[in-house]
Amino acid sequence: MEKDIKQNRAWIEINLDNLNNNIEQIKSIIPKDTKIMAVVKANAYGHGMVKVAKYLNRIGINNFAVATLSEGIMLRKKGIKGNILILGYTDLKNIKYVITYRLIQTIVDYEYAKEIEKLDLKQKLKVHIKINTGMNRVGENYKNIDKLAKIYKIKNIKILGTYTHLCSSDSLNENDVLFTRNQIENFYNCINTLKRLNCNIGKIHIQASYGVLNYPELQCDYVRTGIIMYGVYSNYKENTKIKLDIKPVLSLKAKITTLKEIAKGETIGYGRTFVADKNIKIATVGIGYADGYPRNLSNQNTEVLVNGEYATIVGRICMDQLIIDVSNIKSIKREDIVTLIGKEEKISAEKIASKSGTITNELLSRLGNRLEIITLN
Ligand SMILES: *Cc1c(COP(=O)(O)O)cnc(C)c1O
Repeated sequence: MEKDIKQNRAWIEINLDNLNNNIEQIKSIIPKDTKIMAVVKANAYGHGMVKVAKYLNRIGINNFAVATLSEGIMLRKKGIKGNILILGYTDLKNIKYVITYRLIQTIVDYEYAKEIEKLDLKQKLKVHIKINTGMNRVGENYKNIDKLAKIYKIKNIKILGTYTHLCSSDSLNENDVLFTRNQIENFYNCINTLKRLNCNIGKIHIQASYGVLNYPELQCDYVRTGIIMYGVYSNYKENTKIKLDIKPVLSLKAKITTLKEIAKGETIGYGRTFVADKNIKIATVGIGYADGYPRNLSNQNTEVLVNGEYATIVGRICMDQLIIDVSNIKSIKREDIVTLIGKEEKISAEKIASKSGTITNELLSRLGNRLEIITLN
């Protein structure tokens, strides 16, 4: 791309000071010896994986988690230092690349470990063993001690860690808390049994963001934090045991491209879903659902911020553009900047996600790759 094409249409702004603040906030509640494993999968939840990881390296974070082999390779190619754990499955034929790029593979179950045992690898494959304690996604079941113990004896793998994942740690509902406490207890019982069987379990980790917020007392080697590191909660107005002073890292911005007056009775956009009930002034903004701004925010009184004031989206959101009612905005002109997701409550990621029927994790990670990512500070 031409170097001077910046902020042409729609973009993401990343506030690295806020990322630093969030890291400090997380550190302030985890035990002194526990390290942050920064979850940077899915382009760092839309924030730009390489930029985020480089900055985290600079402020002393040396443990990362990604979902896929390609994400891990990308980090290494861009010079990211430290441990990089692949949380998901890697095809057996590609396991060699996990070694080439000095990544760490998750062992997703006993059968996978046995297939890896058959591979002719030039070096031991570094792995973390995943134990399933109730999520029922990946991991060998905690009850299968025999199978688990056999994994620890496999010759061509080097076991650096053992972990599990909680499936209801975000809820403070009594049943969910009981279930989570059971998951934690079953995990610890399982690793204690494995230790007695002389298995070297390596580092242990259990908590993602909500595990940290609701079960901060756990003493693990790592916490795998994603969403709270980016300064947002998954849901709008959510209750958690610990409340952190986290600050959103990402803002979503776009420019006004055209302004026009609409007479009472005229309609706006596809399907003529919005009918002006009085004369209004509207502006077209250069961002649409192909950029990841959800189309189901159409005609929902969704607000955006322009020149310090709120305007409402009118008519259907299009693939590349959307239209806002700017009748009440005092001063406005072409190329003025519109903020669609930002730190203000009405346009917070939590509010926008909940309005569109999802969680911030999905909203942010789906922000399109057509958006340029600009780092502040
Ligand atoms: C994505 C993921 C995380 C991070 O979850 P957050 O809720 O965003 O902190 C942690 N662990 C695993 C296994 C994951 O897949």
